[in-house]
Amino acid sequence: MDPDLELLAEISGAVEVRPSPGKGKGTFAKEFVPKGTRLISERPILRMSSNYFNDETLKKMVQNLPTTERRDFEDLHCPICQPEQALRQKYIMNHFSLSVPQIGICLQGSRINHSCLPNAYSSWNDKKDRFMIHAIADIQEGDEVTISYCDALATKDMRSKWLEVYQFSCECAACRTTDQISNSGKRFTKE
Ligand SMILES: [Zn+2]
Repeated sequence: MDPDLELLAEISGAVEVRPSPGKGKGTFAKEFVPKGTRLISERPILRMSSNYFNDETLKKMVQNLPTTERRDFEDLHCPICQPEQALRQKYIMNHFSLSVPQIGICLQGSRINHSCLPNAYSSWNDKKDRFMIHAIADIQEGDEVTISYCDALATKDMRSKWLEVYQFSCECAACRTTDQISNSGKRFTKE
């Protein structure tokens, strides 16, 4: 199929975007989602090399977006944005790694919140030239779909330092507990 005619984003009918208490918007399961299900496959609306990131190019790229996508980009969450650096900060705050050194903006992926115990995983598929999100655990109806914005195997202190960039403190089960194993990557390994 002509890539231009391909859908920008394919989203599983099993999930929906709605308000997530204290986190703006989030993505939730409308029904039981089995582990392995592909939830999102999308084409980035913007992509740029992290080696050649510059404000002028970014400004032009945003101006050239179709109106709805430009509005969606402008609406992305960015608690630290200063008016004079809003585009750059919004990009940095919401980007995903694509094919190294490319970083891009994937609108559907941006609506998935963080957990250190995520039930989904994001990846870049170079062959299909698409950003994907798959369930890595069974997700129950009504549960929020989450991915990890940082190295989920890091300790609690390291993770909270990482997450300072996003100006939020994680309230997931691994961050609420004082249990030593839960605070490290060991929680993912079986004895
Ligand atoms: Zn956490």
